[in-house]
Amino acid sequence: MKIGFIGLGNMGGPMAANLAKAGHEVTGFDTAEVSIEGVTMAPTAADAAKGNAVVITMLPNGKILRAVAEEIHPAMDEGAVHLDCSTVDVDSARAVAEAAQAAGLSALDAPVSGGIAGAAGGTLTFMVGGDEAGFATAKELFDIMGQKAVHCGPSGNGQAAKICNNMILGATMIVTCEAFALADKLGLDRQAMFDVVSTSSGYSWSMNAYCPAPGVGPQSPSDNDYKPGFAADLMLKDLRLAMQAAETADADTTLGKAAMQLYEQFVEKEDGAGKDFSAMLPRLEKRGHS
Ligand code: NAD
Repeated sequence: MKIGFIGLGNMGGPMAANLAKAGHEVTGFDTAEVSIEGVTMAPTAADAAKGNAVVITMLPNGKILRAVAEEIHPAMDEGAVHLDCSTVDVDSARAVAEAAQAAGLSALDAPVSGGIAGAAGGTLTFMVGGDEAGFATAKELFDIMGQKAVHCGPSGNGQAAKICNNMILGATMIVTCEAFALADKLGLDRQAMFDVVSTSSGYSWSMNAYCPAPGVGPQSPSDNDYKPGFAADLMLKDLRLAMQAAETADADTTLGKAAMQLYEQFVEKEDGAGKDFSAMLPRLEKRGHS
């Protein structure tokens, strides 16, 4: 298949490389100077978009996505699929999908979970909003870039699934860190705490698969000095998107809001920027000793 790929950063670069490795003809564009094995670089986004069956975007935010969509939609072949894999606000996803449809294109919002390792290993999970026909066309690409693609309904529903998932992730990570910090103060050994909680009703992905306490549980960023992994900055971005959507939809997300405020404090007022999101645990320890 002929594929355009715009936004070849930490995630987009390896995703595009996997598509090329699988034998697809990939033309790429990025505002930064990048070179990806197997990908032919184009001079503009419009050049990367034209003549392809599918054009994938993997960009930092909704504002940039809207601008890029405006540029590429007129260049794309009629009936082609604009497959956006960025994490953006639900409103931008729906606006871009509407614009695509008006231009005679098919549109999918398909944010991912699995991070940089998932992008490199082709093991991402895609949460997809958009029409059936677009999903059917993109399915073989999801199978190369990921291990699972869930069709969540019409446009915007992929982003809705992503922010709901990550709101749970942010809140469970914080409470898992709080529980470790409390356990420390109560004299409970961290290994014992992990052994109990990971097999009891407090278990979660944050505890079982990504334990924030170093030396306990599976290998995780806590064992690598909290280098991300999944950066606290990105968690803050996703929690903000969740709170923006909650406000528009008038949903009560008290714990999600508290999680957003804590990551805001950590990333913007303390030293959390550039650290893994599980570094909430050393943050709490620090507070405990002051
Ligand atoms: P990144 O900053 O590494 O990559 C974004 C790329 O887009 C950069 O190479 C940048 O130069 C390029 N870009 C910016 N403006 C552009 C434009 N106008 N035209 C063309 N290219 C442009 O970010 P990333 O980590 O690859 O994340 C991409 C998206 O994936 C984000 O929406 C992020 O929230 C989401 N995401 C990231 C992770 C992760 O762990 N990194 C996990 C899941 C989802």
